Amino acid sequence: METLDLPLVFDGHNDTLLNLHLPNRGKGRSFFERSKVGHIDLPRAHEGGFGGGFFACFAPNRRQDGWSEESALAITGSGYTVAGAPPVDPAYARGLANLLTKRLFRIEEESAGQFDVVRTVSELESCLASGVMAAILHFEGAENIGPDPGALEELYDAGLRSLGLVWSRPNAYAHGVPFRFPATPDTGPGLTDAGRELVRECNRLGVLVDLSHLNERGFWDVAETSDAPLVATHSNAHALCLSTRNLTDLQLDAIRGSDGMVGVNFAVAFLREDGHEEGDTPLETVARHVDYLVERVGLERVGFGSDFDGAKMPKEIGDVSGLPKLLGFLRERGYGDAELKRLAHGNWLRVLRRTWGG
Ligand SMILES: [Zn+2]
Repeated sequence: METLDLPLVFDGHNDTLLNLHLPNRGKGRSFFERSKVGHIDLPRAHEGGFGGGFFACFAPNRRQDGWSEESALAITGSGYTVAGAPPVDPAYARGLANLLTKRLFRIEEESAGQFDVVRTVSELESCLASGVMAAILHFEGAENIGPDPGALEELYDAGLRSLGLVWSRPNAYAHGVPFRFPATPDTGPGLTDAGRELVRECNRLGVLVDLSHLNERGFWDVAETSDAPLVATHSNAHALCLSTRNLTDLQLDAIRGSDGMVGVNFAVAFLREDGHEEGDTPLETVARHVDYLVERVGLERVGFGSDFDGAKMPKEIGDVSGLPKLLGFLRERGYGDAELKRLAHGNWLRVLRRTWGG
């Protein structure tokens, strides 16, 4: 397969920092060495034409919360339901987010110029032009800010440019959507007053507000409060996969109306019509979401939000080195070079320019 002329991919979501950090996930692998563990490292990224992406800092529930995804999972007649994860202590979340942030900057330092944490669109553009991997510092869950919402500005100064209000659990700002299939994302109350305040503060500073993992009420509250384009960094079309993590047609229409963006998530459970966590999922299934989203929100508002290192991938993609297979598949499906370039990174540049300013 020809890969040389494929555009670099800039991607809306990965959990690589946590995978590197937790020995039970990453087995102590290094970002700089090719590994069979996890999905992203520098050698595999180069092979896959991965130009970078949003690097999430995420604080998972701990054993003492008495909750784990496995133990909370219940199979139902037509799918599954995962009992809601409890909130986590903001001091713990901030502490871990700090460690993950430090890890990101340490990678930058040790990369000898091959990896750059970007704060502006022009930095991101020059990375893409020169083949330096670009990373956006992203917090997944606003509890990561810690107990004081005023800390956002300090984090902005340190490089934070994207914030998911929630992971799939409640916090002081909003209610995350529990994992269920088949079900709608309309699972509970929306933003708190502190949540609305935080959205306004993100607007003021120029921090992207990520809608992925938010329930539907919260989504509409952000739509009403925010003056920035509506962005879901790693979510799919609910019409094709009835997961609570996916976006309904009405939500997609609002994203289109705000000139926002959706990053297509490669997690098989959010792609497949049957919702199964089954690696044997063809590229066609990913492409169907791309087609549907392009049709619904417009080609200039769709990109990728892989969820590498955070979810089960289709076998044919496997890890970041498999990206050319997906792009090649989309090209065979009829997407032209200019369209592929937009899907691969051009649309992220557009939406970030509008969100961050300058
Ligand atoms: Zn996520």
